[in-house]
Amino acid sequence: MAKILGIESTAHSFGAGMVDESAILSNVRSMYEPTEGGIRPSEAARHHRGVADKILEKAMVAAPDAVAYSASPGIGSCLNVGAEVVGRLATELKIPVIPVNHIIAHLEIGFRTTTAKDPVVVFVSGGNTQIIANHKGWKIFGETLDTALGNAIDKLARKLDMSHPGGPKLEKLALQGQKILEMPYVVKGMDLSYSGIFTHASRLLEGGATPADVAFSFQEHCFAMLVEVAERAVAHTGKPEILLVGGVAQNKRLFEMFKIMCSERGAEMFVVPAEFAGDNGAMIAHSGLLRLKKGWTIKPEQIAYFQRMRVNEEPYTRILAKRGTKLSSTHIFE
Ligand code: ATP
Repeated sequence: MAKILGIESTAHSFGAGMVDESAILSNVRSMYEPTEGGIRPSEAARHHRGVADKILEKAMVAAPDAVAYSASPGIGSCLNVGAEVVGRLATELKIPVIPVNHIIAHLEIGFRTTTAKDPVVVFVSGGNTQIIANHKGWKIFGETLDTALGNAIDKLARKLDMSHPGGPKLEKLALQGQKILEMPYVVKGMDLSYSGIFTHASRLLEGGATPADVAFSFQEHCFAMLVEVAERAVAHTGKPEILLVGGVAQNKRLFEMFKIMCSERGAEMFVVPAEFAGDNGAMIAHSGLLRLKKGWTIKPEQIAYFQRMRVNEEPYTRILAKRGTKLSSTHIFE
């Protein structure tokens, strides 16, 4: 049974995990926490380089048959560390390399760790807010037009002097909220906007509003917008399931609001387990395993990374295209 090592390094976390067909064998990570402000790319890369050996030592519970890595999307300097580590390992161990789209990995680990079959997927993380469903390949039904939900949450948390990542701390503070304050609710068709609501919440704080009320009202508005768009995607696609993935999926109030909508619609609700919600190496290993079965491997000298990529794209395809290889449609969709 093939054992795959997965390396994640797109943003704040350096992670490594191993999977085979029957089990998730390991999942280890270290998160870079900026002393102040948001992620500084060069500092994050330095963190990743510093912890890589230790994380790999813990995660490599068996000899891997192939190594998968997050090839896109992400912060250039952070992706670069993953590419370096993978190149070194693959050359030393003489094993093939599998490039993985980080967004697709967030989705696929949701499928592996829940019993969802064909859901509308709500992907909410620091860098992304997308409502996605499978229709001859992944299609984005709605998304944020500006700031991602996790990023908006982190920005408000920073304003409240909370350290990164702010999500869990803001969630705790919101529990103490007593009254709902009016905030912008911006849904445009199937898309959302979170930048105006952050500015509004900041002004309320500057005007003396209670932090707990602001946190509570911010969450209620942001989450309601997401539930509305996801509900419409369920109605449009006729898919009777919702799957929440990405770091923000750990928020209990978000889960509760989705659960209410699903029970009103007779839809089933799934959420990725907390261990696999944020960036992690096991999800990359799992997506690597799926791609190994298709033969989507590259050699260490072909390793490349891309800062931008949508959910319907495979880095494998781009790497082949860079080398002038003619593509078949099976390279793009399953
Ligand atoms: P991407 O995966 O799109 O590249 P990322 O690496 O920042 O972005 P994740 O690791 O999936 O994303 O998620 C991190 C985000 O999840 C942060 O914005 C963090 O604040 C948020 N988050 C984590 N726990 C919670 C929580 N309990 N409530 C709300 N947000 C949360």
